[in-house]
Amino acid sequence: MNSSNISAKTALYGVVGDPVSHSLSPLIHNLWIQEAQVDARYLAFHLKSDSVVEDLRSLGRAGVSGLNITLPHKAAAFAAASNISDVGRALGVANTLILDDNGAWRADNTDVAGFRVALSRLSQGRATSSGESGLTDKFQRAVLIGAGGAGRAAAYALGFDDSLQLTIVNRTPERAVELVDSLQIEADIVEFRALEAAIKSADLVVNATSAGHSDGTALQWPEARPGQCAFDLSYGAAADDALRAARVAGWITEDGLAMLVGQAAESFTQWFGVEPDLDQALAACRSAVGGGA
Ligand code: NAP
Repeated sequence: MNSSNISAKTALYGVVGDPVSHSLSPLIHNLWIQEAQVDARYLAFHLKSDSVVEDLRSLGRAGVSGLNITLPHKAAAFAAASNISDVGRALGVANTLILDDNGAWRADNTDVAGFRVALSRLSQGRATSSGESGLTDKFQRAVLIGAGGAGRAAAYALGFDDSLQLTIVNRTPERAVELVDSLQIEADIVEFRALEAAIKSADLVVNATSAGHSDGTALQWPEARPGQCAFDLSYGAAADDALRAARVAGWITEDGLAMLVGQAAESFTQWFGVEPDLDQALAACRSAVGGGA
């Protein structure tokens, strides 16, 4: 990217969070901006403030054209918007702001789209690896562990599929109940002590907890049956050990990088009307983070 090409017409986009220096979004979006040859730049904004909602509105008034929002500002982004997509409204948090013609923010949540991108990679890998066994790319029994922000996006993506039996497990069961009630999806809720049995009978296990970032009580992976898939929404060090153990036990695995790139792609398409190259960004992120899916 040539900095001398920046002019008074160059559009500004970015990611807002606290902290934000770890974010891969500038890497992803500037790659796509360069590929699409649009006159724009994407930066990271470290916003530590008691007035985040007003600050986000001010960024829009100051001419920032689009924002991604990361923790802990996703609820504030929702409040800062004048207009909210159906998915954003269902999830109650936003990760993308798009400036409308009146200079006001429209909020969306692209994590659901990102989750679907990653799930589609995983199911294609499953169909390919199953060879002659007759397995299809369609999952029938899924276990979702976690009911935080990422868990809500996963539940939204999985919970409206009538042919999929969904079981949700969360450390704090009341949050799983609230999630199912508020999204109005069909799902069984089981206690953590029933997790082992649920994992054994599932063909898809989604880990949407942040446990890998801390003490990380590791999930126990039984020997896999053909086609059993493990999808950890974390990536890098937070997911590597758990997914390595799953692979050793024969599970087909996916970490959260494809979801990250998928949600970014949905934001990029809404801002620029261009569908970007997922594989190129995924390779760049993989090389920045290390590890493997
Ligand atoms: P969050 O809203 O804070 O929710 C955290 C979830 O993890 C809750 O369900 C919590 O259970 C559970 N949890 C935390 N520590 C635990 C432990 N030691 N044992 C069992 N459960 C535990 O976080 P989030 O935003 O949903 O993020 C969750 C994960 O998804 C993070 O690793 C994040 O990096 C990842 N993520 C990835 C993407 C992507 O694009 N790939 C996007 C968003 C998030 P309680 O309800 O009991 O507290």
